[in-house]
Amino acid sequence: MSSPALQSLVALSARIGRDLNLVQAGGGNTSLKENGTLWVKASGKWLARAAEEDMFLPVPMTDIASNMAASRESFAEYRTRSGTVLRPSVETTMHAVLPHRVVVHVHSVAAIAWSARSDGPESIRSPFDGLRWTWISYIHPGLSLARRIEEELPGKPDVLLLGNHGLVVAGQDCDMAERLLHDVERRLAMNAQPAPPADKQALERLTRRTQWSPAEDDEVHALATNIRSCKIAAGGTMYPDHCVYLGPASATVRAGESIDQAVERYMTRYNYRPSVLLVEGKGVITTKDLNRAGRELLLCLKRVVERIPPGVPPTYLEDWQVAKLMNWDAEKYRISIAQAQS
Ligand SMILES: [Zn+2]
Repeated sequence: MSSPALQSLVALSARIGRDLNLVQAGGGNTSLKENGTLWVKASGKWLARAAEEDMFLPVPMTDIASNMAASRESFAEYRTRSGTVLRPSVETTMHAVLPHRVVVHVHSVAAIAWSARSDGPESIRSPFDGLRWTWISYIHPGLSLARRIEEELPGKPDVLLLGNHGLVVAGQDCDMAERLLHDVERRLAMNAQPAPPADKQALERLTRRTQWSPAEDDEVHALATNIRSCKIAAGGTMYPDHCVYLGPASATVRAGESIDQAVERYMTRYNYRPSVLLVEGKGVITTKDLNRAGRELLLCLKRVVERIPPGVPPTYLEDWQVAKLMNWDAEKYRISIAQAQS
């Protein structure tokens, strides 16, 4: 039997999970503190399936405290209510250090766009006026992020904008956290930059007799037809889940270049085989086997980039930060679970 509070968390998680503007693939996580236990989403599980699939793990707060005291990054496995053994979210400690009963962490496209703006820490003051909030510059998710958040606790923030990452909102119950989430989303809403339509014929010509095809979701072509968006996407990695699911930055096909030449140019730089190519001015092509997780992260990138206003340069993760994310054991575990679901 689960408590009414846990049932509310499951329902809230499913609502959040169904909104691609809030979470994509296995990203984002939610938690509830109840009688010394942190109920937290299992690593890699898709919030979108929270209503159908038992994905919350009871982690004793004392386990989290001893992990933190010992600077242990990885967690043991725990059993869901229905008996499945899973590892808790890589962001479990972040949930634990906040004093609120309910913590919601989303990779909202609006929040990511603000979090990757070079003027973000100053410009966000006005939309966030009246909230108790704090800006946390990018720090590797997990224990170091949790420790950094602990330093901010004297200011009693309910809203954390995580630089080059996403958003955390927290409340004393699910209703409060959900209302705050939607309030913050309204405050962060930005109009998308316009983009010319895709040149489908050019994309068909380019991909004929290859393992590539024009992107399935029509919307994403804007990433390549808007030249500024294309440059921003190719310029670097803006947030963790992009490189975790799709590799660093974005690969482009320049005018006159073949797919093979473009792939080789990207691989020389990043030592990673791309599954998405932005054909400059024409549209986006993907490998035919790009899975749902990859498609969701591609949509996310398009919606993030188009929300960065003209004249505002984006900020990117450093190469070593990207390398750390892509080689991170905890992330590999999370991706293996998330891919198995997609
Ligand atoms: Zn996150």
